[in-house]
Amino acid sequence: MKTSGWKGLPIGGLILEGGTAEQYKTGGWRNIRPVMDTEKCINCLLCWVYCPDSSIMVENEKIVGFDLEHCKGCGICAKECPPKVQAIKMVSEAEFRG
Ligand code: SF4
Ligand code: SF4
Repeated sequence: MKTSGWKGLPIGGLILEGGTAEQYKTGGWRNIRPVMDTEKCINCLLCWVYCPDSSIMVENEKIVGFDLEHCKGCGICAKECPPKVQAIKMVSEAEFRG
């Protein structure tokens, strides 16, 4: 991908190849982050299905964390977690700054 100023951009700003979002660490946009309570999670994987940034990390059919380099903090995962479970809460990034 060309990144050398505006002259390097494709005409019309077209995206000419797939998977380009992975190259950008969009997690820097986030002001809240998802935090999961592993005791509550029933591993239904609904959060994984709905996350628009593929930022739910799964191993052996279980949620193991969030890809915070790409998670934008949209909160969809917390919203889609079943109401009776509510294993994800969104927490201000300020709480994680040293
Ligand atoms: S907050 Fe949004 S981007 Fe981040 S893991 Fe949840 S659904 Fe994905
Ligand atoms: S939606 Fe909630 S219960 Fe289901 S896997 Fe995600 S965190 Fe766990």
